[in-house]
Amino acid sequence: IEKREQALLFLNRRGYAPLTLCRGCGHRFACTICDAWLVDHRFRQRLVCHHCGFSMPRPHICPHCSAEESLVAVGPGVERLQEEAAALFPEARTMVLSSDLITSIETMRSELAEIAEGRVDIIIGTQLVAKGHNFPRLNLVGVVDADLGLSNGDPRAAERTWQLLNQVIGRAGREQGRGVGYLQTHQPDHPVMKALIACDREAFYDSEIDLREKTLYPPFGRLASLIISAGDRPSAEGLGRRLVALAPRDERVVVLGPAEAPLAVIKGRYRFRILVKSARGFDLSDYLRNWLAVCPKPTGNQKLEVDVDPQSFL
Ligand SMILES: [Zn+2]
Ligand SMILES: [Zn+2]
Repeated sequence: IEKREQALLFLNRRGYAPLTLCRGCGHRFACTICDAWLVDHRFRQRLVCHHCGFSMPRPHICPHCSAEESLVAVGPGVERLQEEAAALFPEARTMVLSSDLITSIETMRSELAEIAEGRVDIIIGTQLVAKGHNFPRLNLVGVVDADLGLSNGDPRAAERTWQLLNQVIGRAGREQGRGVGYLQTHQPDHPVMKALIACDREAFYDSEIDLREKTLYPPFGRLASLIISAGDRPSAEGLGRRLVALAPRDERVVVLGPAEAPLAVIKGRYRFRILVKSARGFDLSDYLRNWLAVCPKPTGNQKLEVDVDPQSFL
């Protein structure tokens, strides 16, 4: 800041805090439709579910024990980072770039112009800042909670985290080539973190490709995901178990599950996931057709979604 350069604090979480709880009774605010925690959005004055979009005004008393002033925000979001950065660097001009605060392309353009002209010292942003914009004065990037994306149940989580963080860190020092990046992580020995620290794309590729070959994940094998959902949990889980029990045996196929889907409840529906892995040349669609032909059809409010070579695993 003294050198009139810029810093970027990156955190891939919108809002102020990912969890609100009551200090008095321990009540945690969860979505009434999903089972996800509600994210505190101070700017909008609401608690918001990032999975289904449900939101409610921020309460002042605990709905469980009626205590006043007992609610605390737990964990960081970009809005909270801005508050802390402003307290630590009161002279610095901060700006948050997050899809919540940028309501139009025009706003986005003018915010980016302000940054490019050097009218901002500390930029605080979500993945919105990862690519596309050139900030010539930006020479320091700090990634907060770098492992956020690593544990979301997606077999491509490591690859996606590598791509995102590599891009974000690459925003530092574009012009003069003397940027610095910092990573905050609980898993400094994770292959993604090690490769980012060493700037070693090949090392990450080698470890990831090795793991995928051993576990038959793409590109060495094929995947299908079966999501079974229903209005109640036993019904969804029960159908999942029946399906797995009826899966034709084939040594080229591995059937995993049923397990709770990473998004276990969406819009009041309980979700279970079965993952099917096969060798690369295998006709997975044909296998699935034969399998489902001998399975009971979903009844009542049960639903089965089959996705071959899925892009999303949630
Ligand atoms: Zn309470
Ligand atoms: Zn929800």
